[in-house]
Amino acid sequence: MPQPRVTTAMKQPDAEPLAPIPVNPAYPLPGSIARPEYGPGEREALIDEIRQLLREKDAVLVAHYYTDEDLQMIADETGGTVADSLEMARFGNRHPASTLVVAGVRFMGETAKILNPEKRVLMPTLEAECSLDLGCPPEKFIPFCDAHPERTVVVYANTCAAVKARADWVVTSSIAVDVVNHLKDKGEKILWAPDRYLGSYVKRVTGADMLLWQASCIVHERFKASALQNLAERYPDAAILVHPESPEAVIEMADVVGSTTQLIKAAQRLPNQRFIVATDNGIFYKMKQAAPDKVFMEAPSAGEGATCESCAHCPWMAMNHLRNLAEVLRNGDNEIHVPEDIRKQALKSTQRMVDFVAEQR
Ligand code: SF4
Repeated sequence: MPQPRVTTAMKQPDAEPLAPIPVNPAYPLPGSIARPEYGPGEREALIDEIRQLLREKDAVLVAHYYTDEDLQMIADETGGTVADSLEMARFGNRHPASTLVVAGVRFMGETAKILNPEKRVLMPTLEAECSLDLGCPPEKFIPFCDAHPERTVVVYANTCAAVKARADWVVTSSIAVDVVNHLKDKGEKILWAPDRYLGSYVKRVTGADMLLWQASCIVHERFKASALQNLAERYPDAAILVHPESPEAVIEMADVVGSTTQLIKAAQRLPNQRFIVATDNGIFYKMKQAAPDKVFMEAPSAGEGATCESCAHCPWMAMNHLRNLAEVLRNGDNEIHVPEDIRKQALKSTQRMVDFVAEQR
């Protein structure tokens, strides 16, 4: 018997579908970066070494849900955290360790540094980017803001420090709707960047006056509504969980739309035994922990040109692995630096987000 749907996404009948934008051919394809092949005993030896180095160096591992399962496991077991970008930032701020090792993509390391200038922030790799961050360069974004002085600038956390410094507010997907509703209630018009799909979703849900920057996530943009429809018909008992960086047609099929943390909670809370999940498949590690008896399936994505079936995995997140994590702990390389004037300015919009969340709880 199919379970009742509990859709949180609101539809706007007159909404225009967003036209596709060309993907930068210089970006790595989703799913194209595989986990390293470890030699006999190497994986276990690296895990032991990393645990020991974290202790010796007074360091804590802060990992995103989309990173390798081994990194998530080590973060869990050593007193670090596995979280979405908001909780990663909050955790680093609260934890007493003098070094934060951020496994994720560059903007996450920068956010940690913005909030924790006195701490050393290291990353396993500095090459892990994000198409939303790359798609919103400050030299184009700042003049765009200057051309719309009547609008409050709200940027998604997936942006560089200089873009955050120009913003009035930083938000993550878990609080975007609440912040925009708050601003709308004060009569403010909004300039939103960089994710066009999340921005479009927030605009539909809140009805706020929002001008949208046009960047996208190369992972979520590839989820396909028609293939998802076919899968949903084969598994009518499955609930569909969708991250709001996905295209509108995919969001409209969702039973629950939410941030990574909200999707994990939904998997635990809903009575369904089976879920189709439209976000990076790295989230399955935590979903299986939260609901071990349930079945999780990847939503279909366009996988042309790649070797994977679903390709629902961020190629930049996949650049974090045991070898470079151990290396950075041994050598202290890959430290994140943010110029102090930019950091101070970016702190205002980022701290506003942290304070807003604290007030809501
Ligand atoms: S999954 Fe998308 S939004 Fe997340 S880091 Fe990768 S490119 Fe950026």
